[in-house]
Formats: sequence, structure tokens, C-alpha cells
Amino acid sequence: MPIATVDPATGETLKTFHALDDGDVERRIAAASAAYTHHRTTSFEERAALLHRAADLLDEDRDGIARTMTTEMGKPVTAARAEAAKCAKAMRWYAGHAAGLLADEHPDEKDVRDSGATRAVVRYRPIGVVLAVMPWNFPLWQVVRFAAPALMAGNTGLLKHASNVPQTALYLEDLFRRAGYPEGCFQTLLIGSGAVEAVLRDPRVAAATLTGSEPAGRAVASAAGDAIKKTVLELGGSDPFIVMPSADLDRAVATAVTARVQNNGQSCIAAKRFIVHEDVHDAFRDRFTAAMRELTVGDPMDESTDVGPLATEQGRADLEELVEDAVAHGAEATCGGRRPPGFDRGWYYEPTVLTGVTEEMRIHREEAFGPVATLYRVTGPEEAVALANDTPFGLSSNAWTRDRAEQELFSRDIEAGGVFFNGMTASHPALPFGGVKRSGYGRELSGHGIREFCNITTLWHG
Ligand code: NDP
Repeated sequence: MPIATVDPATGETLKTFHALDDGDVERRIAAASAAYTHHRTTSFEERAALLHRAADLLDEDRDGIARTMTTEMGKPVTAARAEAAKCAKAMRWYAGHAAGLLADEHPDEKDVRDSGATRAVVRYRPIGVVLAVMPWNFPLWQVVRFAAPALMAGNTGLLKHASNVPQTALYLEDLFRRAGYPEGCFQTLLIGSGAVEAVLRDPRVAAATLTGSEPAGRAVASAAGDAIKKTVLELGGSDPFIVMPSADLDRAVATAVTARVQNNGQSCIAAKRFIVHEDVHDAFRDRFTAAMRELTVGDPMDESTDVGPLATEQGRADLEELVEDAVAHGAEATCGGRRPPGFDRGWYYEPTVLTGVTEEMRIHREEAFGPVATLYRVTGPEEAVALANDTPFGLSSNAWTRDRAEQELFSRDIEAGGVFFNGMTASHPALPFGGVKRSGYGRELSGHGIREFCNITTLWHG
């Protein structure tokens, strides 16, 4: 894949970049390693001051970087601005909370004496240079939710961003530099995916985090495993959105639309499979279909656009294949199911609702990375759980019910890293984020996220 900015709204290549050569990569790893020797010794106050400056600069840059993201991957510019604002908020959250989250822990006195110590302390120390392999779908957020905790913990970062968002990747490096981070603390590596393994195996690189597809996760985790290096993986999802009879149907329908088409349908935590109780199924289907039909598909730079183009031509082709396969096996599109008429360029696809989905269809078990919803009818909460879990993924889930017994059942039995009741899954700096099954492992955000890349050190005094 060439490293280039290709506008998904037009298909036009706007700017191409040369990949770094081996010498450039070597110099950058050396700089990251050298920066670590100093950054690891800085205080939380010093680190927080730097991150606050980065957040302030990001706020100042919001409109410009939002337009860059929209140009590179097609998200509506309104959503791009919101993404930039969310990143600044997460930076401030970690700047304010890291010292508390990584404070020394003092085991129980009795246990300390039992271990033969006079004193014992658990200290969260940094681990070194962390490689982040990141995707294009939230090109700023995915990186910041790694970088903010990593830098606050005293680590340094190397970013291998997706090849279709090079300008956003370079912006991030520049942002941290302007904020005053010493040379080498955060660098972008403009390299293709084939060059990742060598970086990962370099002894100066301590660990890696990857957000993206399953094959990419498998490749990075295999190499890291072979080199005995820690990884955190945040891979795909096919989150269920369960609607039970006690749900507030107006809110459930409105939220279902947002949850499915946010980011033009290209979000790992988008609700993708809508599992609806038979008592409310037809009403939900009709209102959901009507609302999906009303969405404005168009130029992502236009403030009134709800759904822009898919980020890549390949992404749209993959989505089309999934829908064609479902329809060939008997599914019915109550809306969409095609490219929107009147667009002679750009990688647009109509918001789509598929009914009659069965388990022999690929879309039943594969992730639909675009504005396509599948709708299922169930007769009770146990069947809803069974269907929710009938997927290789386990990232998050949504359940609409006011019934306490159903909430308990879903809390106990849905196999996912989150269960969001009467709302949609969204990440927040204070809440852990990540999945089970083939959605990956480890957690980002919150105290759990910042501690993933720490050397949890026992200090024992005899
Ligand atoms: P990828 O997983 O291919 O890309 C994500 C990142 O991984 C990019 O930086 C990419 O680099 C890198 N990468 C890809 N293959 C390897 C490899 N073998 N070794 C090391 N790094 C690698 O995502 P795609 O853009 O191809 O999207 C395909 C599918 O992935 C989507 O349809 C969706 O299902 C899923 N996806 C999930 C995301 C999520 O948020 N969980 C985000 C994006 C995609 P490069 O760009 O240079 O190839």
C-alpha cells in the first residue's frame, strides 16, 4: 500500500510520501531509546505540563486537523472536530490522573511481614520504547489514547500509522514536538506494514500496541510473542444491539442509527447486529429503516452530511461483497444495499438494513465495516444472549431494557469487554476499553490502560 493521501470523496491522490529507509528508521529508534533514558526520570508534574501544552495546541489546531482527517479518510468534518476535542480531553484527563493511577501501592502490613520484609512497595515504572501500529478510522483518537498514557507513564512512543493517513501521522509528531517534548519522545515512522516486524524485533523496542484488523493483529502479536514482548491488541468487533420490549423505542431507534453509521460505519465499537424482541421487532424495523433512509449521504466537508464515503476503495468492495453474499442467500435490504445514485466518483455506500440474515451468510460472522446493519428477531432474553455471543468477536455490546432481571442476565452472560445499557458504546478516558475472543486482549484507557505498559516493580526491604 503506497503511503499517500487519497481523498475518498473523489478518489484523487493528493499527496504521496516516500517511506523511510533503513537508516532513517535506525536513527529514529535510537532517538526514541535515548529520549527514554531522560523521560523516564521526569516527574509526573513535568510530564503533565507537556501534555497540557499538547492539549492546548490541539484545541487551537482543531479546525485544521479536522479538515486533514476528513480529506484523508472521509469522516464528516463535524465528527472530525469532535474527535480532536475528545483527544484534548483525554490528554488533560491523563495529565491530571496519571500520578494517582500510578501511585505506589502498599501491600497489607501483615503480608509484608509474612514475606520476610520490613517494608514492601509496588511501583509502576515505565518499560521503554513502545511501538504503536494504528488504523485510519479514528486517526487522531486511536493514537492519542495510546500516547497520552504512555508518555505520562514515562515511556516514549514510535507511531506506525496506517498508510492512508500520513498527514495526520506527521501532524501528531509535530504536535508533541511543539508542545515541548524532547526530541525522540514521540515520533512517526512513515513505513509500510512490511517494515513493522524489524522495528518490533529491535531490542530497543520494549512492547507494542495495535488497533486494526485480525490479520494485522496476528502478525504483530506473533512476532512480539517470538521476541517475548508485551502486546495489547484492539481488533475488530461486531457488537450486538439488543432491544427488549421494555426499551424506550424512540431513543433506541435514534441511538441505533447513530451507533451504526458513526464514522461512516467504520468503527470497531459500532453496533452492527440488531437483535430485537419479536414484540417490538416490526415497529423497530420500520422506524429504523425510515431513519436510515433519511440520512444525508454526501461530501464529508459539508456540515450537513451524516454519512460520507468509505475510507478506501477496497473497504467499499469488501462491504459490497458481504451484502451481495447475504442477498444471494436470501437476505432482504429494507433500505440501501447499493451505491447511492448520482455519485460518479468517491467511495460512497448507502445506509443499509438487512433482514432475514442467517448463519450461513458471511455477514453473520464477519465484521461489516461500513453503514450496513443486520436485523434479527428473537423470542426472549436467552435467545438474544445466544445470538449476541454467536460471533468470533467480543468487543462491546448494547442492550436496551429497563427490566432489572434482563440487565443482570446480560451483565453476566454477554461475552464482550463492555455492556452498555440504554445507550451506545462510546469510549471515555476513565473507563477501560478492549475486548475478548478475537477482538483482542489487554485494555486501553483508565488505570488499566496506563498500567499495560508499565514494569510493575516489587521493592522489597529486608
Ligand atoms: P489493517 O489492520 O490492515 O491496518 C491497521 C494498521 O495495521 C495499519 O497501520 C496497517 O499498516 C498495519 N498493518 C496491516 N498489516 C500489518 C502487518 N501484517 N504487520 C504489521 N502491521 C500491519 O486495517 P485495514 O485498513 O486493512 O482494514 C481492514 C479491516 O480491518 C476493516 O475492514 C476492519 O474490519 C478492520 N479494522 C478495524 C479497526 C478497529 O478499529 N478495530 C480499524 C481499522 C480496520 P498499512 O496501512 O501500511 O497497511
